[in-house]
Amino acid sequence: MWERFWQLLFPDRCHGCGCFGALLCQACVAQFTRYVGDIPVCGATTFTIAFVYTGVLRSAILAVKYARQRRLGTALGQHLAAQPWASDDAVIVPLPGSTQRVAHRGYDQAVVLAHAVACVRKIPLSRQLVRVRQTTAQAKLNRAQRQHNVAGAFVWQGGVPPPQVILIDDICTTGATIAAAIAAIHQAGPCHVHVVVLARGMKLHTA
Ligand SMILES: [Zn+2]
Repeated sequence: MWERFWQLLFPDRCHGCGCFGALLCQACVAQFTRYVGDIPVCGATTFTIAFVYTGVLRSAILAVKYARQRRLGTALGQHLAAQPWASDDAVIVPLPGSTQRVAHRGYDQAVVLAHAVACVRKIPLSRQLVRVRQTTAQAKLNRAQRQHNVAGAFVWQGGVPPPQVILIDDICTTGATIAAAIAAIHQAGPCHVHVVVLARGMKLHTA
């Protein structure tokens, strides 16, 4: 009731084109560039990347990360859930962001995405993968620096992992962070990790 009233006063507008009715309209989502290309080697059983990190999607992800557009993150998660990927017979696990950056933002964008996916697909969500070490932002690092930066950054807490884990993240570039997360899950016990990522970042600093 309150939400309907709020919607009347402040109707949602599309982040891409500004039209009323949704935070991301169907026409703008239809323009997301589907990712077809190589998949990082990282120990995953399956690895799904939905889109390329470009255009309206890139701008939307940046708004979630830096402009506190949390509901836009939920909308992105709902679109990620609608993509064809792996079994639903699993537990959803968000790849936790840097605690400093999460504290600054007030929420973890991977958790927002994962929560939306879990709601749409009706899969349980687990927060047992935690970040135990602060890492430098990966954006300005090359591939080797990224691997070194995130090694040992994660740990799986609270018993053995479930047999099937769906690991959710917003962006992957080299896959170094995801590889470190999978290593932490496997260290806690044998399981299949299915990675589902919203977008692949294609630009990598090589200096
Ligand atoms: Zn639009």
